[in-house]
Amino acid sequence: MRTRSLGKKKINIITLGCSKNIYDSEVLMGQLRANGKDVVHEGKGEIVVVNTCGFIDNAKEESINTILSCAKAKRNGTIEKLFVTGCLSERYKDDLEREIPDVDQYFGTQDLPILLKHLGADYKHELVGERLLTTPKHYAYLKISEGCDRPCSFCAIPLMRGKHRSTPIENLVRQAKSLAKEGVKELILIAQDLTYYGLDIYKRRALGDLLQSLTKIKEIEWIRLHYAFPSGFPRDVLHIIKREPKICNYIDIPLQHSNTRVLKSMKRGTTLDRTNALLQDFRQMVPGMAIRTTLIVGYPGETLEEFEEMKAWVGEQEFDRLGCFTYSHEENTGAYTLDDDVPQEEKERRAAEIMDIQAQISFNKNQEKIGEIFRVLLDRKEGEFWVGRTEFDSPDVDNTVMIRLSSKELKPGEFCHVKISSATEFDLFGDLI
Ligand code: SF4
Repeated sequence: MRTRSLGKKKINIITLGCSKNIYDSEVLMGQLRANGKDVVHEGKGEIVVVNTCGFIDNAKEESINTILSCAKAKRNGTIEKLFVTGCLSERYKDDLEREIPDVDQYFGTQDLPILLKHLGADYKHELVGERLLTTPKHYAYLKISEGCDRPCSFCAIPLMRGKHRSTPIENLVRQAKSLAKEGVKELILIAQDLTYYGLDIYKRRALGDLLQSLTKIKEIEWIRLHYAFPSGFPRDVLHIIKREPKICNYIDIPLQHSNTRVLKSMKRGTTLDRTNALLQDFRQMVPGMAIRTTLIVGYPGETLEEFEEMKAWVGEQEFDRLGCFTYSHEENTGAYTLDDDVPQEEKERRAAEIMDIQAQISFNKNQEKIGEIFRVLLDRKEGEFWVGRTEFDSPDVDNTVMIRLSSKELKPGEFCHVKISSATEFDLFGDLI
């Protein structure tokens, strides 16, 4: 392997999939930059690394199409070298090597040092998560653990990411401090299962301890929690969210379904009653907390009656933010042995019905915000508006606040106060005060 030939060639990293893949690409870019490499994110470069997603059908298709278009660019000489890493590559390496041989090398999700070698760089242990951010400089994802020990029957993530491994608190605090020095104000905590944090290395749930350490970092103003898991939810975290003003009154907790028989088949380790009890605790212990969730429709054997029950439950629970996926029949997952008996068209009809209900709920909730004043973090300028978010909104997945331009000089990453004057399903409009 002649590393010198890569010399000063520009390396272009393309990231697909979730925020955990964004984090991994940023770590890869940080390592390359520290090796003096010229690296860009989704720009132009003679060398391309595609960081793929292998979660469900649509995501896999997008990853394969991206690899194919890069392979074509390599055949017509636009790029010289093409490397593929990430979840799809971890899961389907043999098939991909056979079907898309233009790729110089395929890597798994835990192959960073080898990938770096192929890019003419050495893995630098001392960097400890130091990254080249691809997000706007005022917010960053912080991956607190890798992998997952849960047996959810529909999920292929453990096949691609391995067993749960928590990153020690001191390492995460060091990462957060270096991000804060770079101007990060909002830390978005991510994992496959955030609430499992610490069970491996501390033999107890330690998300609460981690939060208390992170809130001590002066420059960090917002800490946001994503990917919590319902069963075994550490209630102490709710007390900390309530007490610590820096922790956003916000929680993302994919619940996937409401029907107890379906939850059992999904191996989610919970029931409708226990789910409702948890949601009640959220609302009683942290009044006004925004709850984001994700649901799956069309799971094998899901009857129309069970779906109608979930629809009614969505109407009752009135989540603040909700996303809905159609079930994807993933080989080597527990549910793959079941009959994928809900037709795709019916899956999509069910997902659309859930999202119609949610759009109305979101519209009503946003109408109630008219006349209120919110603290808003500015993300960018767009035409006649500044675009920002309240503590109840995560980047790219939740609502935005559209602020009419005024004479006041503003910049991304600044906090300001906005009085809401109008609202739609997913956006609030207002003026600076
Ligand atoms: S918690 Fe369940 S759904 Fe989430 S990554 Fe783990 S196995 Fe998949």
